[in-house]
Amino acid sequence: MPYKIALYPGDGIGPEVIAEAKKVLEAGGADCAFTLIDWNTTLYAKTGKCAPDDYLERLKDFDAIMLGALGNSANAPDHIAVQPLLGMRRGFDQYVNVRPAVLYEGVDCPLKNKKPFDIDMLVIRENTEGEYTSLGGRHYAGTPHEAAIQVNYFTRMGTERIIRYAFEEARKRKRKHVTSITKSNALIYSMVLWDDVIKEVAQEYPDVKWSPMLVDAAAMNFVRQPEIFDVVVCSNLFGDILTDLAAVIIGGMGFAASANINPTKKYPSMFEPIHGSAPDIAGKGIANPLAAIMSGAMMLEFLGDEKNARRITNAVQSYLKESSIKTPDRGGTARTQDVGNDIIARL
Ligand code: ATP
Repeated sequence: MPYKIALYPGDGIGPEVIAEAKKVLEAGGADCAFTLIDWNTTLYAKTGKCAPDDYLERLKDFDAIMLGALGNSANAPDHIAVQPLLGMRRGFDQYVNVRPAVLYEGVDCPLKNKKPFDIDMLVIRENTEGEYTSLGGRHYAGTPHEAAIQVNYFTRMGTERIIRYAFEEARKRKRKHVTSITKSNALIYSMVLWDDVIKEVAQEYPDVKWSPMLVDAAAMNFVRQPEIFDVVVCSNLFGDILTDLAAVIIGGMGFAASANINPTKKYPSMFEPIHGSAPDIAGKGIANPLAAIMSGAMMLEFLGDEKNARRITNAVQSYLKESSIKTPDRGGTARTQDVGNDIIARL
């Protein structure tokens, strides 16, 4: 039976990069049956909705979702456009957001004196609670007394399961180290709970070393000495910010893949490039599709087709190392499709 994949290109460069990811998956021998999901801000302009009300119901029986990017402020307010993304993460309990950051051979690193694979980290971001809840409100709107409350919400269960996932991943890697990103000196409730929980969980993993790091120090160290990081575990907000930084140090937004995972497989997991819809280059056919292609490889690996996942990752690495075909974000003049074709030729 083929894997049932919901192909959800979304807005902007989403359709352009997802088309290449699909092409590579198919050429790579992945046994996938794709169903096109055409929900985006164009739909909003027509119907007042970016997705049907029952979108979770319609998606829940797929094995996985491949998302491009959501949002185009010319058509719909951004906070409405991204609702399906946040809704899928919470509704399908995709509590793990995995974002690998590897400096591959052939890629220009903006940091000085970094060799291939000097940067090889796996950032694990909590994806369902923390700072990104819809709890709170605005009071005295529009008056000089106006106030806004945005609740940070950390549960023991949510904190424990993400930390446990990080330790499990660290256990599979060579260096077996977890850096726990906090801000416990200022966020004295949420982050101190996080610290308490990691101390407990760590006792179950005597083979894995761990250390805490404040988020401001982590931002500095991602630039100053990224090679010290192996597995990094962080809250929703900290992970959101740090992974954009991680994307830039491994070559740019066009490289960074991600997975939103429900480890129980009760609901579909979702795979997406971490970049947004990039309205500045949308429709020009010059977006870098690597992040989407690598997200496709992550999807195959998660679904159990490790062999084809590895084939695609190897083809991407060979492309990066040897090919002169580069999209403009890498200083070239190639088009999105040329990159997909080059990778397919190497499979
Ligand atoms: P969002 O606000 O949803 O994150 P965005 O497109 O404004 O969306 P990013 O995705 O962070 O923000 O992208 C920032 C810029 O990086 C884009 O405007 C674009 O110039 C560049 N960029 C992002 N993704 C790619 C890509 N795949 N290929 C080439 N350039 C990209």
